[in-house]
Amino acid sequence: MISKHSEYLGTAREIAHGIVREQAEQVYSERRWPEGAIRELQRAGLGGLSVPTEFGGLGGGASGLAEVCEVLGEQCASTAICFGMHCVGSAVIAAHATPAQQRELLEPICEGEHITTLALSEPGTGVHFYLPQTQILASGSGYLLNGRKTFVTNGNHADSYVLSGVSAVDGLSFSCAVAPQGTPGMEWSGQWTGMGMRGNSSLQLALNDVAIPESHLLGNEGDQIWYVFHVVAPYFLMAMSGVYLGIAQAAYSAACAHLTKRSYSHTGSMLADTAVLQHRIGRLWGELEKTRQLVHAAAKKFDMGSDDALLAVMAAKAEVADCAVMMTNEAMTLCGGIGYRDAGPLERYLHDARAAHVMAPTTDTLRTWIGRAALDLPLLGD
Ligand SMILES: Cc1cc2nc3c(=O)[nH]c(=O)nc-3n(C[C@H](O)[C@H](O)[C@H](O)COP(=O)(O)OP(=O)(O)OC[C@H]3O[C@@H](n4cnc5c(N)ncnc54)[C@H](O)[C@@H]3O)c2cc1C
Repeated sequence: MISKHSEYLGTAREIAHGIVREQAEQVYSERRWPEGAIRELQRAGLGGLSVPTEFGGLGGGASGLAEVCEVLGEQCASTAICFGMHCVGSAVIAAHATPAQQRELLEPICEGEHITTLALSEPGTGVHFYLPQTQILASGSGYLLNGRKTFVTNGNHADSYVLSGVSAVDGLSFSCAVAPQGTPGMEWSGQWTGMGMRGNSSLQLALNDVAIPESHLLGNEGDQIWYVFHVVAPYFLMAMSGVYLGIAQAAYSAACAHLTKRSYSHTGSMLADTAVLQHRIGRLWGELEKTRQLVHAAAKKFDMGSDDALLAVMAAKAEVADCAVMMTNEAMTLCGGIGYRDAGPLERYLHDARAAHVMAPTTDTLRTWIGRAALDLPLLGD
């Protein structure tokens, strides 16, 4: 049984350097959901990483989540995003878990027998994931869900899906609910053909009269906006910050490795001996380090309940998105024609990093929200 931060981080690192690294290229080239790595993380006791200790989890909080996603993301971004979304989903379930939800969902999550994930985005409202149009209608002793979800990471592989919706009666009060995989009326479609994150199995989900019991509603009716800004956003932003930090680190390491390996026959010198390239590596180191410090500080602020935690986690994900895209781009330049020619991880890093700016809340949205908050304006303005 692992319990301490250093223990579970060590376990995650071992798994990252083992099966995650071994299977990364295959996951990418075959667009395969990283089943082996996810099962290994579950077997090692990390399934309940984001579940509080009082519910049997590791209580990793935002800090543990960001750091685990970082070590996984350095080896395989697809594995990191899939595991990260499971942890975000677990945190949402745990936020207001009833005794029945603790028993039916959190216990199996902590025992490594249950994968969950978030299904918030919809085709109609795009990046405005906090404006679902899926309808939740009270029916008998439970609810009926009707609508469409899109980009569901871990799609058709998870055991349950955390869904958002609005009341079919007033169209306003919205809530989150959990639907177990295989509930009649859930129909998966599409294939993930995205440029990167190729193993993440982000699929479309149609909800046609999906019946869930009352016990599967999370929190109270109308709680969804609370979930969005107090649980979903912070945990999601910290998980994704870790993933993209991992990619940035991997790209930086690949550039350094190339510079110390490539030598010229006409001088016998290595690329690493060139002053301007040393200077460029120096700049990249600084970018990576300041971004890492911001991510770790933001996660700590959230875990400690600081007043400005939401601003910090939003800024962290915006900065890490810039950092990962810049770092993968720079690494490609530093590795020259050889890096461009040879199929290898650089292509994967470039493709994976580009998701950082388009996953909601996107970089533009985050900076607008930070600006609005700093100007004492409501986050969700016109
Ligand atoms: C790899 C990957 C995994 C994902 N996994 C999940 C998941 O597990 N669960 C989930 O719920 N969703 C997931 N998503 C969905 C994601 O979070 C977004 O909802 C989705 O990418 C929106 O795409 P869109 O084309 O509809 O964007 P659009 O809404 O069409 O936006 C296009 C662009 O316009 C910008 N834009 C839109 N409105 C404004 C505005 N008012 N001001 C400024 N800019 C604006 C956006 O920032 C964006 O850059 C995933 C997406 C990707 C790429």
